[in-house]
Amino acid sequence: MPTPELQKVTPGFRFASSIISRTVLTLTDGWATSISGDEFTIFIPLIEKTDNARQVATRILSSLAKPCTIANQEIFLTSSIGIAVFPDDGEDLDTLIKHADIAMSHAKQQGKNTYQFYSAEINARSERRLSLETQLHKAVARGEISLHYQPKVNISNGAIIGAEALMRWNHSEFGMIPPLEFIPIAEDSGLITELGAWALHTASTRCKQWQAGGLGALCISVNVSSQQFRQDGLIRIIRDSLTQAKLDPRYLVIELTESMIMANPTESVAALREIKEMGLKLSVDDFGTGYSSLSYLKRFPLDELKVDCSFIKDIPDDADDAAITATIITLAHSLGLSVVAEGVETEAQLQFLKNVYCDEFQGYYFSKPLPEAEFVALLQDKNKKSGG
Ligand code: C2E
Ligand code: MG
Ligand code: MG
Repeated sequence: MPTPELQKVTPGFRFASSIISRTVLTLTDGWATSISGDEFTIFIPLIEKTDNARQVATRILSSLAKPCTIANQEIFLTSSIGIAVFPDDGEDLDTLIKHADIAMSHAKQQGKNTYQFYSAEINARSERRLSLETQLHKAVARGEISLHYQPKVNISNGAIIGAEALMRWNHSEFGMIPPLEFIPIAEDSGLITELGAWALHTASTRCKQWQAGGLGALCISVNVSSQQFRQDGLIRIIRDSLTQAKLDPRYLVIELTESMIMANPTESVAALREIKEMGLKLSVDDFGTGYSSLSYLKRFPLDELKVDCSFIKDIPDDADDAAITATIITLAHSLGLSVVAEGVETEAQLQFLKNVYCDEFQGYYFSKPLPEAEFVALLQDKNKKSGG
């Protein structure tokens, strides 16, 4: 990274950006420069101890967190700060800036509005991330990406009514990489468009094959990431997947999270309606971990809620989680939504869910997500036992 030209900052300097122009920092001695549209470097040569940098970071965060009003609209900003300290984190400006940048990326991944000091551990993680990103570009072509299928089960009669498609990356060197690690990388690098389209297409095709093979009128649920949901081409990708697979839209369930829907509620309503009008089902994944606003459940054209596994984990013993789960189910039913419990691992959890009229469940108690051949074998076995 080229060394930016540093400008002397007078005490109480203002950032030049119009949006954050009301932010006043009172550095006693320091330089700041804009290194790209919304990124700034602050250089403080006279800190006595590392903690001084922490204090500056805290002041910047709290200053930026205050809402400002532009054209009668209240604007909220989030910021992420990375800190590198001379000489431990670098003995020249280029290295210090590079390491502060790595720490800033880490702060962003931690959920923003926070600061992060550079460390060797962060550096190692950043290098792994970079290497995974490079290799993710070739992973689909190399056949390293696959879908596993976790059965969705009807609670009252134990029948498999469908499956959730969950992406897997079997890396030639690192082994299985969990989706929680590579999906965010795919999102940041834009690769999620390709991966997401591949998942929709593959899952729809498999579901049609199972149906045509006499395995039942199964549904397939596909997770859609926030980037995919925001991108214009999603509707076309869904339509192409259904057409190519010759799958009836009512068998495809799109899973979205609360935070994705709530990030921009007005646009979300329009996008969700468009998906609904195609005949698909819409499901809210990880329900209870985000906004959990009752008003959006009413406003959006949803079909299903998936109660997050964090609530299921300690039921029936944890009275709070048991009460929350039972209330979510009652509420969802009163709004005409069906409820899926995620992460069911024990008979006691399943019994409790049965008693509070949960509709469906997924979890290791019934089956882990399985490679396609194993999922098909499980379906065949179940069909044989039920005489189907
Ligand atoms: P999710 O959609 O909420 O998926 C449920 C996660 O819970 C899966 O983790 C599944 O393997 C795990 N799980 C299922 N039953 C149990 C259980 O009984 N106990 C426990 N402890 N865990 C259980 P997985 O496969 O690691 O996926 C994690 C997340 O990655 C998913 O959460 C989803 O948000 C994302 N993801 C997975 N595949 C895709 C994909 O194709 N596209 C997108 N955008 N995201 C995906
Ligand atoms: Mg899901
Ligand atoms: Mg979930």
